[in-house]
Amino acid sequence: MKKLKLKKKVKNLFILAIVLVVLIAVSTTMFLKYQKEKEYEKTYEYKLLDIGYEKNQVNDILKTFKDKEIDYILTKEVSNNYLELSKTKYFIYDKFYQYVDYLEKNKNKNLRDIVEIVNTNTDKDYYTDTTKTDIDKKYLMLVNKYHYLEESYTPESLVSIPPTYSYGEYGSQKATEDTYNAFLNLWNASHEAGFYLMVNSSYRTYAEQQEVYDDYRRSGGEDYADSIAARPGYSEHQTGYTLDVFEKGYSQKDFETSDSYNWLKENAYKYGFILRYSKEKENITGYSFESWHIRYVGIDAAKVIYENNITFDEYYAYFVK
Ligand SMILES: [Zn+2]
Repeated sequence: MKKLKLKKKVKNLFILAIVLVVLIAVSTTMFLKYQKEKEYEKTYEYKLLDIGYEKNQVNDILKTFKDKEIDYILTKEVSNNYLELSKTKYFIYDKFYQYVDYLEKNKNKNLRDIVEIVNTNTDKDYYTDTTKTDIDKKYLMLVNKYHYLEESYTPESLVSIPPTYSYGEYGSQKATEDTYNAFLNLWNASHEAGFYLMVNSSYRTYAEQQEVYDDYRRSGGEDYADSIAARPGYSEHQTGYTLDVFEKGYSQKDFETSDSYNWLKENAYKYGFILRYSKEKENITGYSFESWHIRYVGIDAAKVIYENNITFDEYYAYFVK
């Protein structure tokens, strides 16, 4: 009898042990699962899904943005704008908040316009937030209404453009040597096509630009002067990489009606020149269309600018800076 009782006791203990083991195992598993869930809830993936992004969008966001920007995105309503924005041509990651800020104030604008405007600083008023341009960029230096040259800046290696190709006395028209050499190539090609280009204006000193600007200001006021001339220090002509050219027999104003202009428009880039102030980009360059104003930027840059129909201002922000 005693033996049987003992056996039963052992059996009970054994069952109890098994129950305990199972209980411990189950609760441990549940605890680990709970812990894992808690950990997962801390991830960006969970948080983004939780506020309503779809799985593929989440993957895209995680691939595209850094922590700081994801934290920012999490504070905002679910929107595809951020992803679309990041995929917009010429999107510059460092300008993310500027884009978003400008987008919020201009909800009717498309994303490409937003990117273009912010890249070229035109979300700000002209002549505000200005910086001294980086002259070490040489023929890729940017001079516009936000980037200026100091009064003392004079280009190295200025050469005179002979009267064969320019108006005025010998020595009155100058450009940097690389600009002049490229211009000769352009001139020869245009001449072969049956045209005769003449340089009407080229390198201009700070003081000369001051005169030009002041003349316009006196006759039509500051807004008028700003719309057609650069303020001193802000003129590309001071770089020595800029030429105003037009066909012999034409005035500067009606050059745009000539075949020569059409040729120049389609071929200048092959020789490293761009038409700097085009008709369709007036809002970006801040200048009224100038059919005659060409800028030497080198063949590589000129090709990209021509083929993508962007301004030098945007090229600089995306490729040079
Ligand atoms: Zn000009």
